Amino acid sequence: MANEQDLMERIVALAKRRGFIYPSSEIYGGINGFWDYGPLGVELKRNLKDAWWQDIVRCPPAGPDGRPLQMVGLDCSIIMNPKVWEASGHVTGFTDPMVDCKESNNRYRADQLMVIYAWDVEFGSGDDSQARRVFAFVHNDAKSFAAALSRAKKEAKKLGVKVVDEPPVLPLMHPEFEGYWQWVVGPDATEPGTLTQPRQFNLMFKSHAGAMEDSASLVYLRPETAQGIFCNYKNVTDTTRIKVPFGIAQIGKAFRNEINPRNFTFRSREFEQMEIEFFCHPSQADPWYAWWRDARFKWYVDYGLKSSKLRLRDHEKEELAHYARACADVEYEFPFGTSELEGIANRTDFDLAQHQKFSGRDMTYFDDETKERFIPHVIEPSGGIDRAALAFLCEAYCEDEAPDENGAMQRRTVLRFHPRLAPVKAAIFPLVKKDGMPEKALEIYAALRPQMTAFYDEKGAVGRRYRRQDEAGTPFCITVDGQTREDGTVTIRDRDSMKQERIASDAPTLLGCLQDRLRR
Ligand code: ATP
Repeated sequence: MANEQDLMERIVALAKRRGFIYPSSEIYGGINGFWDYGPLGVELKRNLKDAWWQDIVRCPPAGPDGRPLQMVGLDCSIIMNPKVWEASGHVTGFTDPMVDCKESNNRYRADQLMVIYAWDVEFGSGDDSQARRVFAFVHNDAKSFAAALSRAKKEAKKLGVKVVDEPPVLPLMHPEFEGYWQWVVGPDATEPGTLTQPRQFNLMFKSHAGAMEDSASLVYLRPETAQGIFCNYKNVTDTTRIKVPFGIAQIGKAFRNEINPRNFTFRSREFEQMEIEFFCHPSQADPWYAWWRDARFKWYVDYGLKSSKLRLRDHEKEELAHYARACADVEYEFPFGTSELEGIANRTDFDLAQHQKFSGRDMTYFDDETKERFIPHVIEPSGGIDRAALAFLCEAYCEDEAPDENGAMQRRTVLRFHPRLAPVKAAIFPLVKKDGMPEKALEIYAALRPQMTAFYDEKGAVGRRYRRQDEAGTPFCITVDGQTREDGTVTIRDRDSMKQERIASDAPTLLGCLQDRLRR
């Protein structure tokens, strides 16, 4: 676990050092839960969004009947009429249980707090109140678990009680703890009994539209992009020739005033979602749900998340929201724990029926062929771009050894991104800054730039330049050297195998060769 913890720290450090992700407004000390994407990060994120948009909207896969899915895109406003959020249930129900620690003044989501039974004393039995302490930590956070366990072990040693090697762990909200909170030591507290009882906290950010700050002008920043799609479902069917079954896709910012933003960008207060609402006949909802569930899992595998770290977890019946008929999460094993990247849900006709009720507008669909009128059922694959970007970053991160310019082996950090996701596709170097090499390299750079993200670098030893590109995840480096002038060839070096080949340097050959390799 300690290694995994270091690993996350190394990934966060690399993300900062190489310009993937910076803390937001860092010069003022940052702001909890907000992040900025730097020059490499913005390319990674854009590539992810482009891949999703291409694979979902512009060139969707074939459905179960072998015909391409009907999919269209949408881009809705972030602030909507507040009635939307009454209809969707967010005003009353989009809450998390919040717990405060009176000692550390930290705030937690009660459903994410777990407690460790650190030693062999049955909870609630025995006289020694010391021995009844249990240690809370934050679920899914390796660092917080390790800290709680080590503190629990220390305490147990002091008391001379037996330490259990693999202590049982239970959620703090478990009914067994009701009435025993006085024995719980909070994740950052030294004394037990400092956690308050949970209170419900609404996660929507509020603002006011217009000059007056009163209840009539109250608006919310959208906590999900989905509702914009439901509100426009009629506009889309009325203004296009699309027919059920079809999907509407949207990528956009969402905001949640998370009680405890954590694990780097994983839980942020401002983030981007990629959401699909797929509208189908009620009798077809189950097969479409199964189809989307598998298709979305495969999408992550296709872009390089190893299936051993990825899993598709079906929700238990008790876990389902009251309106959902089925739900599955695509989860990834991050260094800090296994957590959700995307949820795929069968939401039935809940959302459209709610909007019909609250807006008074007819949300039914009329099928010309069968002459049937119905409210479509909806399958919703809802993913987070920032979580996906973080998963691809963690998956790509690798440390191995590479020879330096003198042939001595050196540790190298390499990001093995899928070429389609790599922020920079090709780097172009002159071996040395003379003999016309920079001019030739700049010529190649100019020819490649309109087609792909390319980077030119002439400073320092070439081995160092290769390693800098490895760290940025650039799949190919092209070097102009002494032989280029003689036979017109350059070397092309592969990031993963580190093998170099000579190829002709004229623009069509070079472009063809790179595009071919990027597609592989
Ligand atoms: P969690 O249980 O982790 O809070 P959720 O089930 O509430 O997530 P959804 O409401 O299903 O999440 O949102 C869809 C997707 O949006 C999630 O799968 C995730 O990728 C992304 N997402 C949700 N909340 C956040 C957040 N705070 N930061 C980054 N991404 C988020």
